[in-house]
Amino acid sequence: MHLLPTQEEVVRVLRETGALRDGHFEYPSGMHSNEYLQVPLAMRYHQHARTLSVGLSRLLRANTEIRAIIPELSIVAPATGGLPVAYGVCEALRARQVYWAEREDETRPMRFRQYLEQHPGEQVVLVDDILRSGSKLSEMKTLLESHGATVVGLAVIIYQPTPDTRNFGSLPLYYLAKLDARYYADAAHCDLCRRGAKLEKVWV
Ligand SMILES: [Zn+2]
Repeated sequence: MHLLPTQEEVVRVLRETGALRDGHFEYPSGMHSNEYLQVPLAMRYHQHARTLSVGLSRLLRANTEIRAIIPELSIVAPATGGLPVAYGVCEALRARQVYWAEREDETRPMRFRQYLEQHPGEQVVLVDDILRSGSKLSEMKTLLESHGATVVGLAVIIYQPTPDTRNFGSLPLYYLAKLDARYYADAAHCDLCRRGAKLEKVWV
């Protein structure tokens, strides 16, 4: 595999590890889809995690503005799924630090660990395994900015846009592969339901 894996190589790794699945899936939001992706299934194998993280770090390094601030850069993940990616990218770039936010339960806002504070003028690359709706990344960006940090880029292994994906404006977005699943708003609008395909409910 090359230093920058191709879309086909990334998809092959995802399929071989069971991270990318074909079928008929229902998300917690009620949305149905023909494809489901759980990137941590691929990231449990260190060599794959390394290949994907190093590939992503090379895309970031190619941005001259980001390259210039690497020694001071924070790599921040909005949830645990992004952690192996964040550490892999930080190691490959030799960036300054990695941290993440979490929430006690789904009804509470995201927060950082106690005593973790952004330093004045801190610059951040937001990293996650996947960009689908973008709601977590968007919440994370707002949280960081409210603490005085500046988000300079967004990097994910997989970009799988849905009809509701947030718009991050002019923020540079980096990804190794783009997947175009078919999405249906709910069961009533789902072709797969109409054909009687067996339905699996997914957790996230
Ligand atoms: Zn369906």
